[in-house]
Amino acid sequence: MLGFSSIKDYQLSLSGGAATCVEAVNFYLQNIKEGKYLNTFLEVFETEALKRASELDKKRKSGVVTGKLHGVVIGLKDIICFKDHKLSAGSKILENFQSVYNATVVEKLLHEDAIVIGRQNCDEFAMGSSNMNSAYGNVLNAADNTRVPGGSSGGSAVSVQADLCMISIGSDTGGSVRQPADFCGVVGLKPSYGRVSRYGLIAYASSFDQIGIFAKNIEDAELMLDVISGADNFDSTALKAFYKESNSKNNAEKGKFTLGYFPSVFEHPSLDAEIAAAQKKFIADLPKENFEVKPIAFDLLDYIVPAYYILTTAEASSNLSRYDGIKYGKSADSNDLTEKIKLTRSHYFGKEVKRRIMLGTFVLSEGYFEAYVSKAQKVRRLLTEKTKEMFSQVDAIISPVSPTTAFKFSEKNNDPVQMFLADIFTVFANLTGIPAIALPLFTHSNGMPFGIQLMASHANELTLLSLSKKLAGLSKN
Ligand code: GLN
Repeated sequence: MLGFSSIKDYQLSLSGGAATCVEAVNFYLQNIKEGKYLNTFLEVFETEALKRASELDKKRKSGVVTGKLHGVVIGLKDIICFKDHKLSAGSKILENFQSVYNATVVEKLLHEDAIVIGRQNCDEFAMGSSNMNSAYGNVLNAADNTRVPGGSSGGSAVSVQADLCMISIGSDTGGSVRQPADFCGVVGLKPSYGRVSRYGLIAYASSFDQIGIFAKNIEDAELMLDVISGADNFDSTALKAFYKESNSKNNAEKGKFTLGYFPSVFEHPSLDAEIAAAQKKFIADLPKENFEVKPIAFDLLDYIVPAYYILTTAEASSNLSRYDGIKYGKSADSNDLTEKIKLTRSHYFGKEVKRRIMLGTFVLSEGYFEAYVSKAQKVRRLLTEKTKEMFSQVDAIISPVSPTTAFKFSEKNNDPVQMFLADIFTVFANLTGIPAIALPLFTHSNGMPFGIQLMASHANELTLLSLSKKLAGLSKN
């Protein structure tokens, strides 16, 4: 089988008889073997994927109507439940834990004939920006093995980058799909909050978490969204309206789009000069391509990372209280109940997770709640109001995805605050629940990919995706 370029082309090869699902799975299994040093997959479902591929080949050849994802080979971030398969959230505390049910997203993938090839390495409980917080070792960026893949969905990003599967499903609470996609040069889509059911996604910060997609191109991401989005009786926050119908004012068809940008972003001291220059040039060239461009004053930039880390750690401290060594997961040996819980959590949670649980517990505690959580909630409210106002003027906003390209393992010191601050451009979309996408467009002089982030108004994936196609088609220099 030749290299995969798009789901559509692949499925044409299947229906034309030029390829089979078994060949496709074998192709990826071979690539996974050769790319083992990248450490992307924590587990490969080799026998099962081949069996399913052969059943799908039979189904297609017998003329039965095939699903929208017929034969598509997909990797799942190790944070999404796949019944009777291991699920560890990149943590020792869930080592050898098995899912007892399927996430809604998995049900939907299987229903449309997808093949799940394995479970992918990630930062522990999706907390991190480098994949260095996984209990199962670092994932290497395939473009430069001395560099991180980004995080937390690092294994998922590299799997698509290095052709170890066609599509990966990850999660994005503060950028965990978009930032690794940017670091690896693939498309990363974070849908609106609620667009995809979170049932079966291990919770980090429930009012932020959203399942997202890694793909080689926008059309594939769109098809995936089509399949995995939708209302769900198991998730009351899942949006009722289908994304193609939910936007009454369908901007996609109109001739001229208005794109906004925050000038303060390009002046931010954390932003790499080359990334700033490429983005500025890209924006300056847009009017020639029939786009209207509008600067938007934005003075809340320095508040968004603190607000994000206060609110997400508060939610995490509550969400992760269920890992107590009693209900499930690893359990330390002690006859004393309190001791057992203490030992389990101190032994089997990693450093970053413990840091966040403590931070979250602190900001929620009496006397500090008003000083931290209430203030962060106010920032969130202000941002949401600002977002509504912005999208009354523009169709979408362009910004960088990350202040730098993928950094070297040796480059970041152990300062967690520095790592947090690098989330400055992605967490905005999670605080406000809007959809956002990372589009790979450029190559840095250090050889690494980077691109732009596009954000649209809440529930407006339709505009986001059609604009993405237009922008990706523009000259990239
Ligand atoms: N880097 C962010 C964090 O560490 C993003 C995590 C995510 O989106 N899951 O919280």
